[in-house]
Amino acid sequence: MGRIRIENLSRKFADVTAVDNIDIDVRDGDFLVLLGPSGCGKTTLLRMLAGLLEPTSGRILLDDEDITTAPARRRDVAMVFQNYALYPHLSVAKNLGFPLKVKKIDKASAVARVEEVAQQLEIAHLLERKPKELSGGQRQRVAVGRAIVRNPKAFLMDEPLSNLDAKLRTATRRELTDLHRRLGATFVYVTHDQVEAMTMATRIALLNHGRLEQLGTPEDVYDRPASVFVAGFLGSPAMNLVDARAFSIGGRVRVSAEGIEASLWPGESDSRDVVLGIRPEHLTPLHPGADSETGARITVDVTSVENLGSEQVAYCMVGSTTICVRAPRPIALHEGQPAVLSAELRHLHLFDRSSGRRLE
Ligand code: ATP
Repeated sequence: MGRIRIENLSRKFADVTAVDNIDIDVRDGDFLVLLGPSGCGKTTLLRMLAGLLEPTSGRILLDDEDITTAPARRRDVAMVFQNYALYPHLSVAKNLGFPLKVKKIDKASAVARVEEVAQQLEIAHLLERKPKELSGGQRQRVAVGRAIVRNPKAFLMDEPLSNLDAKLRTATRRELTDLHRRLGATFVYVTHDQVEAMTMATRIALLNHGRLEQLGTPEDVYDRPASVFVAGFLGSPAMNLVDARAFSIGGRVRVSAEGIEASLWPGESDSRDVVLGIRPEHLTPLHPGADSETGARITVDVTSVENLGSEQVAYCMVGSTTICVRAPRPIALHEGQPAVLSAELRHLHLFDRSSGRRLE
């Protein structure tokens, strides 16, 4: 088992609150990705789970055992660092076997276990080499192997792919996902890369200024962002976010701004400032004669169209805001011309402007 309960956890450094009252229940077998911009507190949170940093307040439970203040070596978790932290003077075999030596496992069992893990990660032919004689990708595998070797309840990984080139990163991403499946262990994985998060996570915890903005599956956070911050962080190109005003007419909520008219769900709304969000892939040029009761209709001037090969991206002005449209080629939008765009109701996101939280 490897359930980690993070309860009201905070960490302050002088006047900075790096982690601010975070609650996450990491389920056994989860691949939880801690995602967020630089400085949002991801590493601080991970280091507290590893026992490398003491919380200012709150609790950490590993399978019901309170490990909040337990030293790192007493926790049944293994950390993979961004720079791999291999011992340069030790061979790969000795690096892999190090955690077993610390645990005082007998030598024959340790050798057998190192062999087994090396086979699993396809590094058995490298056992006699020193870290400096390895490629970046091979070093990364040794670092992962050293974590696997003692069968911990949970793996904690701090941007383990950031030192690899783009191609190797993609391949290693798949390997880590496979490994997670095979081991069935709990992974807590720090990254600021949304592609890593979307492709690897069973759940994503999105952090901002030390606070938890949203916790959910990749589909949850992408399809139903809980705040303007989440909406703008995930997706490339980013979600279009336009200031608008919401009100209701005839028992239906409507949204309007210069060039934008949207008719939303039935209900009453006080007249209020909102942010309307629409992903670039959900905007399409309106077909002549099309008429829908609900959804958004946006009148724009097309300023530029970029060709990305398989698809095109158009930038358009609506009022004083630039919005982006993404569609397979050929996109029916032309530089320098006006156009009318539409989006279906199910693709509209509405946020309160002052709190930034999702409305509905
Ligand atoms: P990155 O993606 O850049 O690694 P992060 O999300 O991991 O960022 P943290 O390293 O956890 O962020 O830092 C969170 C905040 O805490 C930052 O404002 C950082 O400057 C501050 N901080 C982290 N460690 C310390 C420290 N030892 N002393 C003082 N401030 C710190």
